[in-house]
Amino acid sequence: MVGGGMAGAIAALAAREAGASVLLARRGPGGTALSGGAVGVAPDAGAPSTVPFALRLRPMEAARRLAALRPAHPYAIAGVGRLAEALDFAARALPGLLAPFEDRSRFLVTAGGGVAECGLCQRSQVAGDLALARGLVAAVGFRGHLGFDARPWAAAVAGMAAAGAPPSAWAEAELFGGPEEGTLAPHELARALERPGAAEAAGAAVRAVLPAGAAVALLPPVLGLDPAVRVLERLAAAAGVPVAETLADVPSVPGLRLQAALEARLAAAGVELVSGKVELGGWPRRPLLVAGQEREARAVVLASGRFVGGGLVRHGELREALLGLPVEATVGGESGTRLAGRPAPSLTRPERRAPQPLLAAGLRVDAAMRPLGESGQPAHPRLFAAGAVIGGYENAADGTGLGAAILTGYLAGKAAAG
Ligand SMILES: Cc1cc2nc3c(=O)[nH]c(=O)nc-3n(C[C@H](O)[C@H](O)[C@H](O)COP(=O)(O)OP(=O)(O)OC[C@H]3O[C@@H](n4cnc5c(N)ncnc54)[C@H](O)[C@@H]3O)c2cc1C
Repeated sequence: MVGGGMAGAIAALAAREAGASVLLARRGPGGTALSGGAVGVAPDAGAPSTVPFALRLRPMEAARRLAALRPAHPYAIAGVGRLAEALDFAARALPGLLAPFEDRSRFLVTAGGGVAECGLCQRSQVAGDLALARGLVAAVGFRGHLGFDARPWAAAVAGMAAAGAPPSAWAEAELFGGPEEGTLAPHELARALERPGAAEAAGAAVRAVLPAGAAVALLPPVLGLDPAVRVLERLAAAAGVPVAETLADVPSVPGLRLQAALEARLAAAGVELVSGKVELGGWPRRPLLVAGQEREARAVVLASGRFVGGGLVRHGELREALLGLPVEATVGGESGTRLAGRPAPSLTRPERRAPQPLLAAGLRVDAAMRPLGESGQPAHPRLFAAGAVIGGYENAADGTGLGAAILTGYLAGKAAAG
């Protein structure tokens, strides 16, 4: 496996489950570690915010519809027949971190004061699901810290009232007001809350400012990096109400937590983990190079990400970084447009919310997750691709990024082991 984000990790775990010996090399964290931490599967994109939660499309139905409407999306190419199986596999692989997959959308408040629809979320986010929360949701910021403002979170909940969201209020707990504390980065806050007694003290500070009748406390996304330390549970016990985190902006503690949980699971599953770069130059005629060492591989899964992970590069033209495979994208509803030689300005649009061809660029694959070469045929029968290195969708913006990484990783891992 080339790459240790969600796609490479799921591919490695799926291949291990199928009985293969697996080496996974990654040269660093990519998009997975930056993500908000919940898995976007397939939002019911057409639904206005006033449509009741109960009437929204469930993730599997929304994914089927998306696949029918967007032929270049990995859901259309891979098919969504095994999507639920793949999501269930991912949730079962990380039981301490992720809540089970139930084919039900979670409506979660974002750090910036929006609401995102996710198909799978971290346990620390469950109590903040606006479709399930009952009673007053109290958004609670840290008075001493500059980084989080609870008012937009309460406003985001109020904005979903017509859909069935509960009432909301906001408050500020007396936390992180020391001379050095007000500018601590999110991961430093998370570590501070992991110290003995800190989660309990934070819970008491939250309890002291909770509005009357508060049924849930919605907190900044900094509730510890290691789920085993149980910051969420300890803080909630002291606060006296269920507690949830908002989704995160970068730098993202839930994203780092997800990345760390994937690494721990890979090690426990017997995947050989190597830190360093993979070079594929002569493969399969010659061994591939992993952190400078020659290694034999019967099959390779490229899960090297897009621009953040380093799977795509531009040297005059856009190319896949390791084998120079052709990069394509979707422009104006047409799939398969070759972007490689086009000037960069033609690949972006000035309207921020318009489809951005550059951000949907990536490999094209067949239904077996094999990347296509110049001829339109699979580049090699034992070469597979997964995750953001595959194009045809704006993985960081269309609400399907981690969901597509899980589906394609699962399929590519099984195929590589077969
Ligand atoms: C800021 C941001 C926020 C996002 N938020 C969300 C969200 O909240 N929900 C959601 O569903 N999706 C979100 N996405 C999208 C989602 O994070 C990505 O689609 C997904 O993480 C891609 O996973 P991946 O495994 O394909 O790639 P990555 O996670 O990028 O991993 C790529 C891996 O490949 C490795 N690599 C690359 N080249 C080599 C090489 N030559 N040798 C060795 N290793 C190599 C990298 O080091 C890295 O480990 C977000 C994306 C961004 C950028």
